[in-house]
This record gives sequence, structure tokens and C-alpha cells, in this order.
Amino acid sequence: MKTYRHFIAGEWVEPASGEWLDSVDPATGGAWCRIARGSQPDAEVAVAAARAAFRSGPWAEASAERRAALLHGLADILEHQWEALVEAEIRDNGKRITEVRAQFSGLHLWYRYFADQMLKIAPMALENDVPGVENIAEFEPFGVVAAITPWNSPLMIAAWKLAPALAAGNTAVIKPSELASASTLEFARLTALSDLPPGVINVVTGRGEEVGEPLVRHPDVGKVTFTGSDLGGCKVAEAAAGGVKPVTLELGGKSPQIVFADADLDNVVNGVLSGIFLSNGQTCVAGSRLIVDRSVHDALVERLVARVAGLRMGNPMQADTEVAPLANGPHLAKVLSMIEQAKGEGARCLCGGEQVHPPDCPDGFFVAPTIFTDVTPSMTLWREEVFGPVLAVTRFDTEDEAVRLANDSDYGLAAGIWTSDAARGRRVAGLIEAGTVYVNHYRSVSPGSPIGGTKRSGYGRELGPDAVKEFMQTKSVWLGTAPCADPFPGHAD
Ligand code: NAD
Repeated sequence: MKTYRHFIAGEWVEPASGEWLDSVDPATGGAWCRIARGSQPDAEVAVAAARAAFRSGPWAEASAERRAALLHGLADILEHQWEALVEAEIRDNGKRITEVRAQFSGLHLWYRYFADQMLKIAPMALENDVPGVENIAEFEPFGVVAAITPWNSPLMIAAWKLAPALAAGNTAVIKPSELASASTLEFARLTALSDLPPGVINVVTGRGEEVGEPLVRHPDVGKVTFTGSDLGGCKVAEAAAGGVKPVTLELGGKSPQIVFADADLDNVVNGVLSGIFLSNGQTCVAGSRLIVDRSVHDALVERLVARVAGLRMGNPMQADTEVAPLANGPHLAKVLSMIEQAKGEGARCLCGGEQVHPPDCPDGFFVAPTIFTDVTPSMTLWREEVFGPVLAVTRFDTEDEAVRLANDSDYGLAAGIWTSDAARGRRVAGLIEAGTVYVNHYRSVSPGSPIGGTKRSGYGRELGPDAVKEFMQTKSVWLGTAPCADPFPGHAD
């Protein structure tokens, strides 16, 4: 079985505990590799390495232009060698090869975008009303950034954090999910081929409370960026608060999709399917609540059920697989239990609703794409994130009611609106409580577009033109250009 150690200061490092955690292949249910079970001493060594690289040596001395060149160098390696990362990700989290290949073949673009964004950041002359003085804003990195990532898209989400953090001049310690760390370690292997100095990128693995929390609490960590569940995010924010550290939280969602009667239903079917069943619903922006005008409800639901019935489930390594396994055993149990609860609370299950054992992966963690109708806002399925292939459908009669239903959630990450009335699309987009709203489209992400949530979906934004500054602090520098006035002229010597 393959063994993955921590990656610290360019070296592969044994865990201080001497202990390991098995990583399970969700397509087979069997362990396929083991990762270091990190703990506080490992977090300390990693932060010390990151701190040393930040304080002195080639990274500390690098100009923004040099950092950009180093990130483009890493991007060149990713652009040509991303295939080396694919297998580890699929064996860890079961994502379909088609999706992984699409994600990884573009991984280099995140690094290129933020390398270029950094070059647009310059000290800024500030307006001030004080005579005889100039005031300038300078932008400086925090130092060591702790980047904690979930299991669903470890490398893409790491890129969203690493690329702007490094462009800004920070160094980083990544703590991937203990359920899917291997691709991040394979990525670390590729970073070692680049000219990035050792210690700029470090990876420690293990459980959140055992190594993630000591990392967040470490006094030499200046900024924390977290993507994961709202529960995990609360714990991380609490730990960071003890050290008065800024945190960016990208958390869960229960994103609504509103379908008006005038929408193009062919387009809606594709958008809804990709929103909830692509990636098995294991995506933060999963469009998991479908709110449909009563007059088109039955026709739309019928078409959705027909489309998912024909999807091919099986081995995620096969290019023609359309539904892959869920990412891990505990998650499978959670999804199945939420399905049972929805049935118990009175929602009507039209398709799926059970575990499946495809012939080529009989022991894998598969759940059939599941559609529930007659879901009401009091039901758990309406309120809680499943993070799985489960769509909750309800009807509305008026635009006001649709907006009320969409906003009736503790979360506010994303939303979809489907209508052929452009003015209504823009109007309703303005009324939705969410960080991202798609109109007649769903699920795109792009380096230039900010992503983040409102309410329990988190705070702060990743990506977009301001992302590099999320990893910088502003210093106000006052430059005297005239003699200082005597503050006590009556008592001059
Ligand atoms: P999780 O919260 O269980 O774990 C996420 C990461 O946090 C893991 O690395 C874990 O080890 C670590 N962690 C957990 N407790 C910690 C603690 N006390 N201190 C430090 N680190 C800790 O989430 P998950 O199950 O891996 O991921 C699924 C969740 O992530 C879903 O809720 C999903 O919506 C969310 N997600 C959000 C986005 C987004 O951009 N908003 C993207 C992807 C996933």
C-alpha cells in the first residue's frame, strides 16, 4: 500500500506520532494508501519551515515580478504534468475521471491568473487633509497562511487559496482533508520540481482536531483560509479568534434554483442536472432545492426523472461513467440516513433513494440520483445540506413566494434563476440572499469571479480581482514633507 508522508521544507517527513491513517477507495471500499497522522509537533515543524521561508532567503527577497515568474513556473509544470495527479484524486474521493481531467487540465490557470493579478497591486497615494505630509497605502503579506481544504475538490480548492496567498508573498501550510489527502501530496511532489524555494508550500495531513486546530492556533500563522462544513468552520473561527487572526470561511450551502413558467425547459433540465447530479451533489454550490412554478412543475419533474434514470453508474476511472461513488463511507451513511429521514417526514421519493451496487464496483459507495417532491420548508431535507445527489423539489405560485422560499435557508452560497424575462432575472437576482447568483446558467467558477457566501455559508471571498488582497494587510505610511508644527508654542525654550 502506498504511503504518503508530510511535505515540509521540500522533504518527506514522518509523522511525530509514528501513526498513519488509511485512505479508502470509495469505488472498492478498501484502503488504497495511508497518510501521516499529524499532530501538534508536525504543525509546529511545518509552520517553522513556512516562517523561515517567509522571513529570509530567496522567497523573502523576491519582488512581486519574481514571485509571479515562480508561480508561472509552477503553472508550466502543472500544465504539462497534471495527468500525474489524476489517479490519486480519483482513488481518494471517487470523482469521475472526466470531471477530474477537466478540473486538472485547467489547474495551471488559477496560478497564472493570480500571478498576473499581483502585478497590478502597487502602493497607493491616499487623499489626506493634513498639510505638509503625504500618505501612502502599502500592501503586505501576512506571513504564514494556514489553508484547510475539504475532500470534494482538494486541488482546485487548494489552488484558490495557494495561488493568491503566494502571489501576495505569503508562505503556506496546507492541511487537506484526512479523507482525501493524496492528490495534495502528489501536487506537493510537482511543486518540488519548480523553482519555488523549500518551505514556501508545505503539507501536513491528519484529522482536523489533531493537526488542523494546532495549525490554526499556532502563533506564527497570520491568516487562516478554510473551506469545509459550517460546523468545521465555526471551530476554526473559534480557534483563530484566540489569536485574533483573520479568517476566510467558505462553507456549505443549500442553494435554491427557481424555475419560472416562461423558462426554456430544455435549458433548465441541463442546468438542474449539472447543478445537483454532476459531482454527485458533492459540490458547495449544488443546486439542491428546486423551486418550480406550479404550472410547469409536473412537466419538469417528469423530464428530470427520465434523464437520471438512464445515467450509467460505475467505476469512476471509466470515461463513460456518469455517476461515480460518493466520496467516503461515513458520507454514504449520512446521505442514506438523510434520504430515510426525508421519506419519514413525508417527502415523495420519485427516483433513487437507495444504495446501488454496480456490477463493476459492487462494494463501492454508490447512491442513485434521488429526486424528492412535495418537500416543505419545515423538512430536514429543505433545511440541511446533504452534499449528495438528492434534489428537493417544491412548487410556487407567485414571484414573491419563490423569493421567500429561496431565502428561507440558513445558508446563502449560490442560487439559480431560470426565466426568459431578462428584467425579471436581474430583479430576482438582486433579491436573493447568496454570494453567487446564476441566471439561465449554473455552476461556473472562474479565477476572475469572486466566490463566497452569506449567512452560514461563510464570510470573505475567494477568487476575483480582490483575492490577492485578501491575503495582504494594508499599511498606512505617512511621509512628512514639511517641518512639524510645535504642539506647545506657548512653552517654547
Ligand atoms: P469538514 O468541515 O468536515 O472538513 C474540512 C476540513 O477541515 C478538513 O481538512 C478537516 O480535517 C478540517 N477540520 C475539521 N475540523 C477542524 C478543526 N476543528 N480545526 C481545523 N481543521 C478542521 O468538511 P468536509 O466534509 O471535508 O467538506 C464538505 C463541506 O465542505 C460541505 O459542507 C461543503 O459544502 C463544504 N464546501 C464548501 C465549498 C465552498 O467553496 N463554499 C467548497 C467545497 C466544499
